[in-house]
Amino acid sequence: MRTIAHLPLCAAIALGVIGASHASEEAQGDKLRVVVFGAHCDDPETGAGGLIALLADSGHEVIVGYATCFRGDRKFFGQPEAMVRRREATAACKVMGATPKFFDYAHEHLTADPPTVQAIAAWLDEVKPDIVVTHWPFDTHPNHHAVSSLVWQCYDRRGDWSLYCFEVMTDQQSLGFKPDLYLDIGRVREIKREASYCHKSQNPDGFWPVHEAMHGRRGSESGVECAEAYYLVEAKKGCPLLPVDFLPKVDAKP
Ligand SMILES: [Zn+2]
Repeated sequence: MRTIAHLPLCAAIALGVIGASHASEEAQGDKLRVVVFGAHCDDPETGAGGLIALLADSGHEVIVGYATCFRGDRKFFGQPEAMVRRREATAACKVMGATPKFFDYAHEHLTADPPTVQAIAAWLDEVKPDIVVTHWPFDTHPNHHAVSSLVWQCYDRRGDWSLYCFEVMTDQQSLGFKPDLYLDIGRVREIKREASYCHKSQNPDGFWPVHEAMHGRRGSESGVECAEAYYLVEAKKGCPLLPVDFLPKVDAKP
């Protein structure tokens, strides 16, 4: 059985039934299928690489969706971008213990129009995830925004899974992110770093420090050294929550 009946998380917390960190207890014994859906190769890794590594390490199945792998006829290292980016993402997924799924949309043609919603929804219907994690919708990059909209429309139409959002390069790309869940990624930080550094074409020495600063910022908000942050859009009735021990936000020190 893949589903676990429970109250929506916010309601459960409000009623004192569970704390924000009790998702793992609810899912105990179940191996879940989680889709982490990003726009570009490197978004799921940098936004949710710690979560992916922790889920995989616990025996859960993680499928990483990449909506777009190329722009026009751009090349890296003398090879077509799609070839390079898929190869890098495949290596990153291997490091994290996940399975990649690549879509063929070009950056410049990725929109949240009805045919694309239909294509993504058909894939999700086939995969039957328990949980989907995707981009926070307010983002300066149109591909991130489009993917968030695509996943939201799939969820709103027929998704029978819980929906969460991750952040990427907050205040440069994700804007106004309001996390309600924090994840200590200290134990898997090096796995996340190694997965991120698989993306040589994206200059990891340039983007990794930005994410390290985010880890520190979210860590300080949750009382640990190094954390990722998430937003639970809705805990759909009958669907499990992410089976990890989330931390709440701690009060700022005086
Ligand atoms: Zn991106």
